[in-house]
Amino acid sequence: MTAKKTQIVIVGGGAGGLELARRLGAKYGRKRHDIILVDRNRTHIWKPLLHEVAAGSLDANLDEVGYRSHCHRWGYRYFYGALDSIDREARKIILAPVLDEDGSELIGRHEIRYDYLVIAIGSVTNDFGTPGVRENCIFLDSRAQADRFRNKLLNHCLRVSRAMTADPSADEYVRISIVGGGATGVELAAELYNSASALRYYGLEIFDESRLKVTLIEAGPRILPALPERLAEAAQHELEALGVRVLTGTAVTEATADEIVTRSGERIKSDLKVWAAGVRGAEVLDGIGGLETNRAFQLVVRPTLQTSRDDRIFAMGDCCSCLLPGSERPVPPRAQAAHQMATSVLHNLERMMAGKPLKPFVYHDHGSLVSLSRFQTVGSLMGNLVGGRMAVEGRLARFVYTSLYRMHLLAIHGWVKGTALLLIGRVNAIIRPRLKLH
Ligand SMILES: Cc1cc2nc3c(=O)[nH]c(=O)nc-3n(C[C@H](O)[C@H](O)[C@H](O)COP(=O)(O)OP(=O)(O)OC[C@H]3O[C@@H](n4cnc5c(N)ncnc54)[C@H](O)[C@@H]3O)c2cc1C
Repeated sequence: MTAKKTQIVIVGGGAGGLELARRLGAKYGRKRHDIILVDRNRTHIWKPLLHEVAAGSLDANLDEVGYRSHCHRWGYRYFYGALDSIDREARKIILAPVLDEDGSELIGRHEIRYDYLVIAIGSVTNDFGTPGVRENCIFLDSRAQADRFRNKLLNHCLRVSRAMTADPSADEYVRISIVGGGATGVELAAELYNSASALRYYGLEIFDESRLKVTLIEAGPRILPALPERLAEAAQHELEALGVRVLTGTAVTEATADEIVTRSGERIKSDLKVWAAGVRGAEVLDGIGGLETNRAFQLVVRPTLQTSRDDRIFAMGDCCSCLLPGSERPVPPRAQAAHQMATSVLHNLERMMAGKPLKPFVYHDHGSLVSLSRFQTVGSLMGNLVGGRMAVEGRLARFVYTSLYRMHLLAIHGWVKGTALLLIGRVNAIIRPRLKLH
């Protein structure tokens, strides 16, 4: 009789979870342990690319990874489904029923046994309960939402182009409001101008960036609070030069079908409204399996990334609340943190199975970079190599920014396929259209 394999279940195949599944699968899958990845989607796209998908400057079909082919290659099993609850006593996760497009039930509620569980389900946009936001704004949490934004954007560009063709004196614009002056909002604002400037080459003769009216609204005193003030100012100047209206110190109190309403009473007419004002954990985590969560529905973890109430359950990435050593500040919700946590959880799982003491997670902040599309990249790098903190702009910043995605490709595909995909990406950049128009 063969011994029962240790079953390691990872829920969420994003920036952190997919890397962990690949590394565990490559090392132990098909042999000693059974590695299982659960995701509510069938494909993975790296979340930091979503603003480019939304603006149409990136075709997600080319960058998506199908979990089924990936698991076959790397020796883990994949289950399609969404985490619903955890039965800690029986060591089982329960997945919600899988529904067909028309809402009919394909697969009923089902259970998966685990010996060790890793929760890596990321975050969702936080609307802070602001009236009308959920109904009227688009969030950039998933590919489906980014696609929805792009389709609406193209429809409005077409509307303006047709109106101007019919009557050249018509003063028509596509009005877009973006709430949140963090990296996502700033990057999206710049990317929209990049896309709009390319549209005239794709059949919309009477459309260019001058027909865009983008307003970026930030409640805090300045945009990009994670960057040094000088760089945030440089980014704001760049955005304003493109035509973006930047409002700081402006809280939004309501979103309606065609307006964003600010605390001062200004009503900003908007054809499209994007809410990118912060993240929180998914509601499903609230009290799940009796585990401890904070007020933002993130799972509270110990320094080893084990959840505070269960040694066998780890949490990592955006869905966990992990405090920086000796501080009340949490590790920030970033792709680089999810990537580093994947390594830490991998090693701690190995130590735990070998009966060795676990090691605390140490976060290495390598800095933050913000891409203003092809116009500029700004940010700060941190670490011993650059001697503390170093502000960067221009080509060097652009190079490091694009390297982050390269590293993710290598982490989820290994060196051979990862390098091949990078080369294919270079070729595609030359031979494929600059915009995704459908
Ligand atoms: C537009 C945008 C730009 C960004 N730019 C940057 C950047 O430049 N640099 C940076 O460091 N970070 C950036 N981020 C943040 C970064 O994307 C996240 O911090 C990172 O993706 C978190 O990784 P994760 O593994 O925790 O979660 P994710 O990568 O979000 O993955 C979560 C996975 O869990 C799955 N899932 C969710 N709920 C369930 C469920 N109930 N059951 C099963 N599966 C589920 C999802 O389908 C997804 O595959 C950006 C984010 C956005 C939205």
